[in-house]
Amino acid sequence: MRKTKSDLDSENATALSLARTDPKTAVKMADLTHKASLGIQYPKGQADALRVLVAVYCGSDPVAANEYAEKAISIYEQLGDDQAVAGLLMQVARFNQNSGWVNRAYFLLAEAYERSFQAENLKVASAALFNLGANSEDRDDFPAAVEYFARAKQLALEHDLTNTYWRAAAAEQEMLYILKDGLFDREIVHKALEALESDGGEECLIELLTFLAKVAHDEGDGRLAKSYMHRSMRLAKACGGEQARAEILYQSAVFRHQEGRLKSAGKALRYALTVAERLELRTLELSCLKLLADTYFRLSDPSLAYETLNRFVEIRDELHVQESKRHFEEMRTMRQFQLVEEESRLLKLKNTALGAVNSRLEVALQETRNLQKELQRLVTIDELTGAFNRREILARGSDMVSRFHSQGRQGSIMIVDIDRFKSINDSFGHATGDEILRRFTKSCQRVLRPTDSFGRLGGEEFCILLDNTPLDIAEKVADRLLKSIRSTRVSDLMGDRVLTASLGLAGLNASHDKIEVALNDADESLYEAKNTGRDKYCVSGVKNKRAA
Ligand code: GH3
Ligand code: MG
Ligand code: MG
Repeated sequence: MRKTKSDLDSENATALSLARTDPKTAVKMADLTHKASLGIQYPKGQADALRVLVAVYCGSDPVAANEYAEKAISIYEQLGDDQAVAGLLMQVARFNQNSGWVNRAYFLLAEAYERSFQAENLKVASAALFNLGANSEDRDDFPAAVEYFARAKQLALEHDLTNTYWRAAAAEQEMLYILKDGLFDREIVHKALEALESDGGEECLIELLTFLAKVAHDEGDGRLAKSYMHRSMRLAKACGGEQARAEILYQSAVFRHQEGRLKSAGKALRYALTVAERLELRTLELSCLKLLADTYFRLSDPSLAYETLNRFVEIRDELHVQESKRHFEEMRTMRQFQLVEEESRLLKLKNTALGAVNSRLEVALQETRNLQKELQRLVTIDELTGAFNRREILARGSDMVSRFHSQGRQGSIMIVDIDRFKSINDSFGHATGDEILRRFTKSCQRVLRPTDSFGRLGGEEFCILLDNTPLDIAEKVADRLLKSIRSTRVSDLMGDRVLTASLGLAGLNASHDKIEVALNDADESLYEAKNTGRDKYCVSGVKNKRAA
């Protein structure tokens, strides 16, 4: 027996409700209703079946979901069902956004807004404006976000859409908080909180509570922040929002990170990351990876930091490539289907869209470059002093030794160690000790030449490489260094006490097959300087000790 249109409608409705809980059955049903709809030439049934497939695949296979959605949209379009088109566009925009294709999501939302506005479906139109705001926020375009939220608010106000009004009002304040450096209207936010609490809208409530937690945290009220976070976590658990929970977890990791509780931040991030990966929430995944890399770095684990940042860059680049490919394809198919008189309008559209993609790609490229630079900095620089770290200075030292052996280029190496640094720490505290290390670094760097390298070996011990420099010149540099260290301004920290250091110097020679051997010679001279009065330098292989 042939199925009627209303049979197919109800089967599609059932399949749609099964999309999340029993995707296999939903897909089977959708296949059947799709075929049956074709059989009785019922395009709406076809489109509804495709819509089921969109709902099934949007979490796991965004590429397939996008394709089904495009087909469904073109059928609804032919049927003149603007409402269905706008609704589907909104849904597709949402999972594109979650999949990290934020530019694509932006264009879909703009289209959803245009259509629903023209169809006078103002509820969807204002929701689209709201989502455009959230999308701009995700793209870090905060001024645009403020504008969209304000427009959503205005439209909602004119048409008595209270829920959207308060959601947009709260989101707008959140943006102003960022843009105006902490200035925002508390009264509006608390009114929004009240309104949303009585009116439903868990998702926005969760976000609003997280925002209030952020404010409390920024203002130093950790307890209040915690209580807001707990409330939003409870809500997220109650409405089963795994995504919301992962986002809250990420936010609490941000707090812990800011408070310096790095291990605990790392733990929360790894957990949020697992959920983001499982649910394919690429935007969240990227945020987690970025912060996790920084956390590893601060925990002095550069190799994990490096690995994590690499993963971040990899995923982001991959997303940009996917997204721009889709844009080009879309523009091409769109052109094939449009009527001739629309040609010029389309061309214009294409140009703006491509221009936008282009500038986004440029920004992304620049970001990647900056990130790589930052990464380079992170793995070579000692965070406390800004000098090269141990690994980097030793690597440069090895290069210098190789050049000595292969090209006969002379070079000298120094180890400098601050005198009685332990007693500086003991008398004035560790924080002062740290500040002394920074000023010491500046004093040394001031008198070094661009071709010299300065690095921290550890504690208060530093190494200086003097490339292309014979020993007699190196001794002059040593003199200048000791003078500069002695005149470091420390009176505000240690009263009358003068900062001094001792220095061991070695010129590269044939026995130095490795940097470690040269360092060892310099180290022996350093001990000699320490044992014979400090605040002076000694030269390896030279018996008479030299005072500076
Ligand atoms: P000497 O003149 O013989 O070199 O005496 P010293 O006290 O400088 O030598 P010692 O090696 O005994 O002391 C080094 C001290 O440096 C001990 C350690 O607590 C401190 N230190 C190591 N790293 C840091 C750091 O990053 N910051 C601060 N403030 N102190 C550090
Ligand atoms: Mg010392
Ligand atoms: Mg020492």
